[in-house]
Amino acid sequence: MATLGSTQNTYLFPFVKPLAHGIMPFMAIWEEPFEKILEESVRIHGHLCAGQVLGVRLALLGLRLIGIPDPRGQDRKKFLVYVEIDRCATDAIQSVTGASLGKRSLKFFDYGIMAATFVNLETGRAFRILAREEARELAERYAPGIPDKYKRQLEAYRVMPEEELFEVQEVRVPISEFDLPGRPKRRVRCERCGVYVQDGREILEEGRILCRPCAQGGYFQLLSQS
Ligand SMILES: [Zn+2]
Ligand SMILES: [Zn+2]
Repeated sequence: MATLGSTQNTYLFPFVKPLAHGIMPFMAIWEEPFEKILEESVRIHGHLCAGQVLGVRLALLGLRLIGIPDPRGQDRKKFLVYVEIDRCATDAIQSVTGASLGKRSLKFFDYGIMAATFVNLETGRAFRILAREEARELAERYAPGIPDKYKRQLEAYRVMPEEELFEVQEVRVPISEFDLPGRPKRRVRCERCGVYVQDGREILEEGRILCRPCAQGGYFQLLSQS
């Protein structure tokens, strides 16, 4: 019980922040001090790395492009973020935007590409931002004299102009009603194994409703069942 009590106390801390914020005029997230935003991302991710710096900058650019100044406050239901890689920068993007898988505001497409797309649900405007490969080499110019390659990239990514760090594509993202936050639109039962499948993810095969593992094979192999 003592442990639980102290955990609850630490959770009181974040609630103090909005009060402190309330005194100041509203500030778009991209106008806030970069180091403060980075610090929070590092806390959530567990370490400071080039990916955190890159991810924070990418997320701030994305939010600015789609016009979402308060992603974790009043704008939290107005946008979606699509990430294309499960690497360090993705945690930073999550931390800055507040988007998450559980809230359905974060979508993961496993492309292995250092890129993310930001969609404004009200305007439909969307931008895909890719980390430029050349930025790795340019780090030498922006942070000379740092022998370690990764430390050099980390420092360079703090100061490098956005145009040199990122390529921006304006895109259109067709979004299914089954992908949006909110209550599940459909819930059906797999006719082979009996599990329930939500959000239109079932597969129709010769007139039968199947879950994906039954229809296409899963990422797992069943050893035993109890
Ligand atoms: Zn990392
Ligand atoms: Zn099934």
